[in-house]
Amino acid sequence: MRAMLLSKPAPVETAPLQATTVEVPEPADDEVLVKVRTCGVCRTDLHVVEGELPPHKLPLIPGHQIVGIVARLGSACSRVRVGQRVGIAWLRKTCGHCAFCTAGKENLCESSTYTGYDADGGYAEYAVAPEAFLYPIPDSFDDVSAAPLLCAGIIGYRALQRCNLQTNGILALYGFGASAHLVFQIAQHRGHKLFVVSQGEHHQEAARELGANWVGADPAKMPEPADAAIIFAPAGWLVLPALESLKKGGTLVLAGIYMSEIPPLNYDRHLFYERDVRTVTANTREDAQGLLLEAAKIPVRVRTCLYPLEKANQALLELKAGKIQGSAVLQVSAT
Ligand SMILES: [Zn+2]
Ligand SMILES: [Zn+2]
Repeated sequence: MRAMLLSKPAPVETAPLQATTVEVPEPADDEVLVKVRTCGVCRTDLHVVEGELPPHKLPLIPGHQIVGIVARLGSACSRVRVGQRVGIAWLRKTCGHCAFCTAGKENLCESSTYTGYDADGGYAEYAVAPEAFLYPIPDSFDDVSAAPLLCAGIIGYRALQRCNLQTNGILALYGFGASAHLVFQIAQHRGHKLFVVSQGEHHQEAARELGANWVGADPAKMPEPADAAIIFAPAGWLVLPALESLKKGGTLVLAGIYMSEIPPLNYDRHLFYERDVRTVTANTREDAQGLLLEAAKIPVRVRTCLYPLEKANQALLELKAGKIQGSAVLQVSAT
């Protein structure tokens, strides 16, 4: 099968993914073989390919927002059927019996593994995944629109849940890439006011088009403090102005898997008055199901920028440069 293979992490400017052919993977008893139609390109892929996240497996096929068709079932599978359209997300497998798994916090599982990091992902014609971690894709989304929901969407959804917003709250979003433009629509549909902080002119424009209540580059200019804020950009320095722009008792959620160093905080200016800082780590299966259901009901409009599989390096490069409107998606096979 065709695949984009990473042999050694390196800056995307050097095109570290190689177009090659490899064997079609064999599903284990509890796994399913999926013929990949599309695969989203996520900022986490960038951190994996460039090595900010230490390698877990090399060589590696990245990609963890996979939409495809079930091609073959392992001998112990019975939940899905051949021909069914399913999604594969970042959380590949959990142990099911550690203290976190049994407390409904499987995203913190002691021995969880991840798609396109611990095991090969979707920058290839076929992928395997445990049957218990597949998600049926709602019919209202085509293969291209569905892909970004599987990470950008899910992580945004979990970040929003962790904001603890009350009815008619004010939510500030820092950065307006793939995840932010999806969570924006969910928060808006739930009745919240949206403020968007972004340096990028075209990101600001996209936020205005979606009906943001305020858009700007300087959080100090927000018309009023926010009840909650989510930082999507991997920029640690943003934590300070984001905390300063919160109301008393407000919550700041950091949604990235990687963040540059956070400068020292001043207790009085940034934290006192019960301002909380929370992070988001992966997702539970419940998050994924919740997101897909709510996104289909609204329905969320997914902005995508399509690339052929072989252009994965270019997609990552443009993502790094902040040039992509919405989400980059690789078209792997015809639909
Ligand atoms: Zn566990
Ligand atoms: Zn991701």
